[in-house]
Amino acid sequence: MTPKEVLEFAREKNVKMVDFKFLDFPGMWQHFSVPISELSESSFEEGFGFDGSSIRGWQPIHASDMLVIPDPDTAVIDPFMQVPTLSLICNVVDPITKEKYSRDPRYIAQKAEEYLKFTGIGDVAYFGPEAEFFIFDDVRYGDASHYAYYFLDSREGIWNSGREECPNLGYKLRHKEGYFPVPPSDTFQDIRTEMVLVMEQVGIQVECQHHEVATAGQAEIDMRFAPLVKMGDQLMWFKYIIKNVARRHGKTVTFMPKPLYGDNGSGMHTHTSIWKDGKPLFAGDKYAGLSDIALWAIGGILKHARAICAFTNPTTNSYKRLVPGYEAPVNLAYSSRNRSAAIRIPMYSPSPKAKRIEFRTPDPSCNGYLAFSAILMAMIDGIENRIDPGEPLDKDIYALSPEELKDVPSTPGSLDEALKALEEDHEFLMKGGVFTEDVIEEWISYKRTREVDPVRLRPHPHEFYLYFDV
Ligand code: GLN
Ligand code: MG
Ligand code: MG
Ligand code: MG
Repeated sequence: MTPKEVLEFAREKNVKMVDFKFLDFPGMWQHFSVPISELSESSFEEGFGFDGSSIRGWQPIHASDMLVIPDPDTAVIDPFMQVPTLSLICNVVDPITKEKYSRDPRYIAQKAEEYLKFTGIGDVAYFGPEAEFFIFDDVRYGDASHYAYYFLDSREGIWNSGREECPNLGYKLRHKEGYFPVPPSDTFQDIRTEMVLVMEQVGIQVECQHHEVATAGQAEIDMRFAPLVKMGDQLMWFKYIIKNVARRHGKTVTFMPKPLYGDNGSGMHTHTSIWKDGKPLFAGDKYAGLSDIALWAIGGILKHARAICAFTNPTTNSYKRLVPGYEAPVNLAYSSRNRSAAIRIPMYSPSPKAKRIEFRTPDPSCNGYLAFSAILMAMIDGIENRIDPGEPLDKDIYALSPEELKDVPSTPGSLDEALKALEEDHEFLMKGGVFTEDVIEEWISYKRTREVDPVRLRPHPHEFYLYFDV
């Protein structure tokens, strides 16, 4: 849409308010609103001011004035407001220099798309994330030494989203058996469908929804693939819609990767491919129907995977998911069949257009713009340097002996390890000025001081169980 078309659209829909949405540094949507009378064609150049100092990971207080510049292509009606409200996703710029802000994740993603074109390798990179999540009835959490507790399932003795109904009519999903019996075992069909319908209202094309493997409540909704920035935008809508639909039903949703001990976590398997002149570059006659370019892209991801994890798996909780036995990858290998490998080559369709790789390590606690950009930059590095991904690993990796696994590198064991890897390996991200030094440094320092240390320094609830009466 042009700015003029946005204004016409707003008139047609009787819009009263305009809501500006943009991301903070770790990747949560922030917003503020103005009456429709404040929006004109020039707003799309001049923007609207706000105080950037209160946004996590951003400006120091002495340089706090910032502008949002709404992107007219993102105009939709916000499906959750009672008063007709136009929603616009924004870029963030400096009011004096008018330069886009280096720590705006959407800008980093825009630069990554530009850089792909600049290299001549391709003109578009597609991303299809399968973001999983949990729907809970209730969440309570206390401070430091209290359990964040859901419901204690007395049968399993594990923390569980269990529904304690009276009378107990049975059909309860046992843990790791949620994939995927019909109702009444699955009680979330209608809620997931409602989430899908609202996604369609804002223009997101959905391919599938289903219950996921973990105990009652784990869900997956799959969006059709889209270019990097567009998918970054859609992933924000995705989380917003899922949380707000759940709220309508008195439920709550979490995208944290491992909320329940002893059951599957939530991943965000990310399918990706690069295209040029309308042609898929990943289809060829090499292993699993891949091209050389695709194999080099895999080589790039595997080479930089430990550093990329700082963006694709950016929380301390992320590393509680990346453990053996829960369908999450622990080894940095690739395979066409193997769901225990970090990269799988889906074989569902023989069509070259469907040829893609599935990077299974990412999880939905990530900031999509940064995660997809980091993956793209690793693929570009792999392609430019023709990085050989080595032999595929077509065996169940969980079942291999330590001897057989000794040459297969593994995913980082903690966020701290991933940040160390990023500290040592980030040149590939900085090509073309996509990620800047300022962004890498702030990311590492933000994550260490605000997340790694506070978690590391607090007595853990389980330590009370283990050590209280020593
Ligand atoms: N939940 C699993 C993970 O953590 C994936 C399960 C699946 O989609 N097969 O990646
Ligand atoms: Mg899936
Ligand atoms: Mg899944
Ligand atoms: Mg998958």
